[in-house]
Amino acid sequence: MQRINIVLRHCLIALGIIALLTCIGCDGKRQPDAAMAGRLRVVTTIGMITDIVKNVGDAHVEVTGLMGPGVDPHLYKATAGDVARLASAKLIFYNGLHLESKMGEILAKMTGNTKTVAVTDDVNRARLLTPPEFEGQYDPHLWFDVTLWMKAVEKVRDTLTEIDPGHQADYEANAERYLAELAKLHRYVKTQAEKVPPEQRVLVTAHDAFNYFGNAYGFEVRGLQGISTATEAGIADVQELATFIAERRIPAIFVESSVSSRSIEAVKAAVKSRGFNVEIGGELFSDAMGTEGTPEGTYIGMVQHNIDTIVTALTAVQP
Ligand SMILES: [Zn+2]
Repeated sequence: MQRINIVLRHCLIALGIIALLTCIGCDGKRQPDAAMAGRLRVVTTIGMITDIVKNVGDAHVEVTGLMGPGVDPHLYKATAGDVARLASAKLIFYNGLHLESKMGEILAKMTGNTKTVAVTDDVNRARLLTPPEFEGQYDPHLWFDVTLWMKAVEKVRDTLTEIDPGHQADYEANAERYLAELAKLHRYVKTQAEKVPPEQRVLVTAHDAFNYFGNAYGFEVRGLQGISTATEAGIADVQELATFIAERRIPAIFVESSVSSRSIEAVKAAVKSRGFNVEIGGELFSDAMGTEGTPEGTYIGMVQHNIDTIVTALTAVQP
């Protein structure tokens, strides 16, 4: 009996030492790393791309999105932490078409073990818009034509499959499911848009992010600032837009979550001085999604929010 007790005690001590050794150096931060072991490390820029990677990569990827809610990708500069995250990633997805214009150099430097992919690379250039004010470059905001964004989903699916062929079947099944949801979303936006009488389908926002939206769903689009937010709107731009709104008797204009509302409020005041009242029809998510955990924190939710907000404001009866 005594002997058994001694053996048992020795066993317990040995177990204790093993447990102690296993725990040395492990803290709250390291635990998730262990859980993430074996997952493909992916870093993304805008939230809409992060959302694609979450949907298509699901359990096989660990995705870090650099730009959160309210962040303007045209002006975003990588922090020291971002550079470290980018360097430790196996795969980086960004929009391209000069959307992340301040990150071009850093993305170009990522070589070696890191693959850098623009999700817009395979989109047929004939379907891209080239507004004159963007000096011969393509308009980067293609996520507002849902059918074009579906091409970005295919690009993510194909790249994940190329890098991690062992999970090809899962990536394909996930992409198929997500693409079906996006096809449904496209039909929803189309149906909602048709509720606005054609002559009232005019969308005025802070910056020119909605040209693809206008093109796909039949809206005339006017942005106060250009395709990029890098240049401030001038007084002349405000006055010109105010005249347009007053003449066309447009009932509502919109602010954007990633652009200061100051300029749109200046337009509202300038319209008022012309004897017409234009309402602020609500906030649209243009270049960033909403807070994580809210419906607008996903690409599908943000697109639904935008079209619902636009339709409600443009069809509201003027007092
Ligand atoms: Zn933009």
